Amino acid sequence: AAKTEERNAFRFYSPRMQADARRRIALASELRKALAEDEFHLQFQPTVEMRSGRVVAVEALLRWHHPVRGRIPPVEFIPMAEKLGLIRRIDQWVLQAACRQLAEWDHLGLPPLRMAVNVSAHWFGQANFVDDIRALLESQRLAAERLMLEITEGAILRLGEEMERTLHALHALGVGVAIDDFGTGYSSMSYLKMRAIAYLKIDQSFVAGLPEDESDGAIVETMLTLCRKLGISPIAEGIETEEQHRFLLRAGCTEGQGYLYSRPIEPEEIVQLMTVGKRQGNSHLRLVPPEV
Ligand code: C2E
Ligand code: MG
Ligand code: MG
Ligand code: MG
Repeated sequence: AAKTEERNAFRFYSPRMQADARRRIALASELRKALAEDEFHLQFQPTVEMRSGRVVAVEALLRWHHPVRGRIPPVEFIPMAEKLGLIRRIDQWVLQAACRQLAEWDHLGLPPLRMAVNVSAHWFGQANFVDDIRALLESQRLAAERLMLEITEGAILRLGEEMERTLHALHALGVGVAIDDFGTGYSSMSYLKMRAIAYLKIDQSFVAGLPEDESDGAIVETMLTLCRKLGISPIAEGIETEEQHRFLLRAGCTEGQGYLYSRPIEPEEIVQLMTVGKRQGNSHLRLVPPEV
């Protein structure tokens, strides 16, 4: 089958695909330089407590601003960085920058936020991963509870036994681990039995169809029941409408993230958001009252 595919791929190799391939090859070499040339920066997307609209956390999202090509989305360069073996250095940079930012916000007197950082399996699977995390927290004088690490189901599947050790060690340290894009990976749920997972992020593909789509509704409700019974905090991703917010709130979802509340924004905008909110006596974005 692989042979046939190869042949077909060759036969259908269009000018468009050639251009795409050229871009990929060029980007790969440019990606190596991006870290050194300071072309990366972080945006932060607020996570709200759904009941109150209060901002309780932010997720650090990596941005690559290429000097010539402009913005390149993470869905394009993260998989590339994984293939090129650059992802560990990139993830380390992100985690360090995110922790530094959190310490700076603390210093400015912002209410204590939780910082969520995406971590790829390549680094998470390393033997010294937990030591790296501990050292970083100490250097920024941050309590472990302030940090949350997001990994995908696929990553968990790939790691096997060391993963179990790592999850337990992080749990003991107090760093919360979230399963990102929950429900989209090819994986069993047996890792949930370890009781070392603190958060499940319900993937936006299940949120998109709410409230009309009955399958999405049933899946999301079941995920929320699972969370409640296992003592895991659910976080819904990709909330764009008030109807989605209401459905999720009523179904027992406690935290949410999405364009309805805020897009990923610059660090200065987080400061603005949190200080304006504080003056109003409640640092919230947009409060959607539940339907009674
Ligand atoms: P993710 O961790 O699941 O992040 C959520 C993605 O959904 C972000 O895309 C965010 O901008 C987008 N999003 C948030 N709210 C909404 C919404 O209401 N509607 C829609 N349509 N989209 C929404 P982004 O920033 O393009 O990141 C894509 C993915 O790239 C992330 O998915 C994550 O898997 C990966 N990524 C981003 N930063 C890093 C990083 O520092 N390290 C690693 N390893 N992966 C990263
Ligand atoms: Mg994430
Ligand atoms: Mg996600
Ligand atoms: Mg996602």
